[in-house]
Amino acid sequence: MAPDLLDSVPSEGPDTVLRALSEDGNFRVMACRTTATAAGAVAAQRARGKMAELVANMVTATVLVRECMAPDLRLQAVLQGPDRKTRIVADSHPDGMTRALVQAPALASGVQPHLDLRQGAILQVQRTLHNGAMHQGSVEVPAHGDVSAAFMAYMQESEQVTTMISVGGHWVGEHLVAAGGYIVQLLPEIERAKLAIMAERLEDFRDIAPLLQQGIATPQWLLDETLYGMPYTQVAERTVYYGCNCSAERVTASLASLPRSEVEELVSAGEILEIGCDFCGAEYKVHPERLRGLLHAN
Ligand SMILES: [Zn+2]
Repeated sequence: MAPDLLDSVPSEGPDTVLRALSEDGNFRVMACRTTATAAGAVAAQRARGKMAELVANMVTATVLVRECMAPDLRLQAVLQGPDRKTRIVADSHPDGMTRALVQAPALASGVQPHLDLRQGAILQVQRTLHNGAMHQGSVEVPAHGDVSAAFMAYMQESEQVTTMISVGGHWVGEHLVAAGGYIVQLLPEIERAKLAIMAERLEDFRDIAPLLQQGIATPQWLLDETLYGMPYTQVAERTVYYGCNCSAERVTASLASLPRSEVEELVSAGEILEIGCDFCGAEYKVHPERLRGLLHAN
C-alpha cells in the first residue's frame, strides 16, 4: 500500500473503552480508541497545531482516568499553562459524552493560544462524587512532561497506585487519523518479578503514536499486548463520543450568576440575547421574558 493510503486508514468502529483485570489480580488495564471523540472536540474548539494535539490528548486521558477511577461519575480535567489564563478543560460524562474547551486571553483572530507544558503548568482533576460533592486534586506537570506524564503524576499522588498512562494521536497535517491510549495500574502487593516484567514490556508501548500510525493500536490489541501471556478477564466495554449537553435552559441558568443589576439591564434593554455555548459553539437566543424569570427566581 502506498504510504499516503496507509496514513488514511480509518479507525474501525465507534470509540470505545475496554477495561480488564488480570486473573492474578496484579494488573488493571483500560484501553481506548477516542478518534472521533477527540476530533470532534478539536473541531469544535477550532484548535490547530500543538493546541489541537493537547486538546486531543486531554480528551483521551480524561476518558481513561474517568473509566479508571469512577466510570459512573463525571470527570473534568483542566490543564493550565504557567500564565494560569491559558487552559484546556476536558469534560467526560458517565454516559460517555465528552467535550473540551480552550480558554485563553484574547488573541488576534487566527492566532492559536500557546500552552507551555515545560515549566510551571498544572493539572487539576475534578470529579463529582456520588453524594453530589466535588472532589478536586491538582499536581504540577512534571518539567518537560506531556499530558501522559501529567496524568501519571496525578494518579500517583491522588491514588497512590503506580500507574502508567500513554495517550496520543496520529496526525496527518491538521487531520486526526487515530487517537487512543491506555492505563495500566499495578494493584497493591504485586510481586517484584511481575512488576519488572510489566515495566519492561511497557517500554515498547511508551509512545503510542507510532502504534496508532501503523493502525494496530486498537483497544483490544492494547489489552492483549500489555497483558500478553497473562490470563485476564475483560470486565467492561463502554462507548464514548463527542457531544455537548448544553440547552437553552442551561445557558439561561448560567446567566443567574451575573449580578442582579446586569440582568435587570438586559431585561430593560428588551433585546433578544444571543449566547453561544463555549464547548460546542451552539447558539441560543434568550428572550428577555426568560431573563425576567431569572429575576423572579432570585
Ligand atoms: Zn454546547
